[in-house]
Parts: sequence; C-alpha cells; structure tokens
Amino acid sequence: NKQVIFNNYVSGFPKESDMSIAVGEINLKLPESAAAGVLLKNLYLSCDPYMRPRMRNSSGSYVGAFQPGSPLSGYGVAKVLESGHPNFEKGDLVWGSTGWEEYTVSTEPGQLFKIQHKDVPLSYYTGILGMPGMTAYVGLYELCSPKKGEYVYVSAASGAVGQLVGQFAKLAGCYVVGSAGSQEKVNGGQKVDLLKNKFGFDEAFNYKEEQDLAAALKRYFPQGIDIYFENVGGKMLDAVLGNMRLRGRIAVCGMISQYNLESPEGVHNLASLIMNRIRMEGFIVSDHYHLYPKYLEMVVPKIKEGKIVYVEDTAEGLDNAPAALVGLFYGRNVGKQVVKVADD
Ligand code: NDP
Repeated sequence: NKQVIFNNYVSGFPKESDMSIAVGEINLKLPESAAAGVLLKNLYLSCDPYMRPRMRNSSGSYVGAFQPGSPLSGYGVAKVLESGHPNFEKGDLVWGSTGWEEYTVSTEPGQLFKIQHKDVPLSYYTGILGMPGMTAYVGLYELCSPKKGEYVYVSAASGAVGQLVGQFAKLAGCYVVGSAGSQEKVNGGQKVDLLKNKFGFDEAFNYKEEQDLAAALKRYFPQGIDIYFENVGGKMLDAVLGNMRLRGRIAVCGMISQYNLESPEGVHNLASLIMNRIRMEGFIVSDHYHLYPKYLEMVVPKIKEGKIVYVEDTAEGLDNAPAALVGLFYGRNVGKQVVKVADD
C-alpha cells in the first residue's frame, strides 16, 4: 500500500520534503476493528488549500491537524472493495474523506457520498461535483443571492472553486470579473486567458501585474462591486473593501494568501462595512452538504449540455502528489488540482 506520509509540522511555505512516499503492507480485507466500515481503493485524490492549516501543530483549521508519521488525508474518489456498512456495497463508487494512499480502511463511511451519475468524468467528484463545486454554489447562491445585472468579483478565479463561481454568476445574469496569477502551461492555456475564453468571465486581470490593487478594481468596476467571492484575503480584501457598493455582499470562502504566514496581515478598510451596509459572511461548505442533491440537480444537466465547463490539472500517481499539493501555494495549478492514483 503506497502512502504519502506527513513528515512533520510545517512553518512557512510547505515543501515536497514535508512529505515522503512509503510502501507498506496491505491485507485487502476489512479488519475486525473496522467491521462496520469500508475498504476503499483510491482512484483520485483532491489537493485542497485547507490542507495547509492542517500541517500546523495547533491545527487552526476546522478539521484536525495531520499526524506526523501518518498518511495525509483529504477528499478523494474511491471504489468500495469491501463493506460492512449497510449504505455501501462492493463495487460502489464514492467520494468524500479518504487517505493519501492506494487503499484506505474508512471507519467513518458517514463521510462518504455514493456516486450516482457515472456518465461524467469520475475525477469531477473531486471538483465540480464534489466539495469545491458545493463551495462555489453555497458561497455564491446561498450567501450572496446574486441578481441580474449585479457586479461580481472573484479572486483565485481560475481555481477549483473560482472557475465555478464565475460561471454560476454568469448564469445568474451578473457582470463578472476574475483575477488570477499568470502561469504558462503548454496545454492548459494561461490562467488569465482561460477566465474570459473558457469560462466566459466579462473581464480578467493578473493581480501580480498590478502595483495598486484598489486602482485596478476601480478600473474594472467603475460603479463598484456588489458581490465579492473571497478566496485570497490580505491586501486583496482591503482593496475590495474600498470598492464595494451599497448593500454589497462578501462571501468569505478562504484566505489562501494568509495560510503560510506566521502572523496574518491586518485589514484596514473594515469601516467600509458600515458606510456601505455590507454583509460579510464566512462559511464552511460541510455545514451545507444537505443541499448536495439540489446542487446535483442544477449542475449535472448543465455539464451535459456544455453550459458549464470544468478545467482540471491532473498529476499522475501518488509519487507526484506532494508536488501537486505544494504547487497550490505557488499558483502552479491551472484549474482543479487532482492526483490520479489508479484506474477504476
Ligand atoms: P485553487 O484551485 O484556486 O488553488 C489555489 C490558488 O490560489 C492558486 O492556484 C493560486 O492561483 C492562488 N494563490 C495561491 N497563493 C496565493 C496568494 N498568496 N495570493 C493570491 N492567490 C494565491 O484552490 P480552491 O479553489 O480549492 O480554493 C480556493 C479558496 O477557497 C481557498 O482559499 C480555500 O481555502 C477556500 N475554500 C474554502 C472552503 C470553505 O468551506 N470555506 C471550501 C473549499 C475551498 P493564482 O494563480 O490566482 O495566484
């Protein structure tokens, strides 16, 4: 059983050497101690920014810290090889919580969703049909209630969540601008270009090329921003606060620019919340999983009709998983970062 082991707690930017590859024994049977669990063969693993806070000793994340010497865990897509749980049977495909390894004994099958729609790429259940898809849906539609003609800004816009927020906001009839850092890729295109050409954003810019973020936002939103989908935090949040419109909404989804800092940057423009009667609300997607069936009903037909597209960046094999995870914090991924572990 090949595994990606978490070596030790991390400060600053994570490195590949914070993880190592180990090959252990596997008995492809459910052990007695997990008789009510499931034995999984992992097919795809998801690289997610929230895994960085889990690399800290006092996790600071809404899920527990990784254990040094044990495999990482996260979201993935897997096949059930054996089940002692009434909701699952051998051969089922599932997505949800699993280990960074070839085979995982899950003692918490409550954290797994059975995959019903199989006529879409299975890897989509790490992205558009899994946790990031639900994040975009909940953050935009449930928290911000976008209305036709409103002005929407998305940061980290080409990523797993951002590319969907932009497309969902377009479906709601909004004017949408996204920002991304540029990354040259031979096949994947360039991130900022993708925003307009692939995802249908109205405008897009490279935030790394802007000296003055507030001035850049003023250029793209001369009338101000109604909805900001916050993925990065720090200076970007300050710049946005200075450009919000009356009764604007900010969905605070993530703050990736802060995850590797020992002390977070301050935010200075909070008074804008008062002046402009802004609602700023944080959320954790897992509180909203009861909406998953409703989300699938909306999004699956749109995927099949080609009205929503999804870009993935796939690393092949567990050996390449540490580099893929670290790459998120350098903006190396173009679209949803996935690790392919095995064929179905
Ligand atoms: P992405 O696929 O967008 O990958 C991360 C991207 O963040 C990178 O590609 C990079 O793109 C950008 N980035 C990295 N470092 C910085 C930085 N210092 N400043 C600005 N941008 C940076 O990730 P996801 O779509 O999976 O996640 C997006 C956000 O959503 C994260 O903050 C994550 O923590 C949050 N999240 C929150 C959830 C919740 O329940 N609240 C659930 C899921 C995700 P670029 O080239 O644009 O710099």
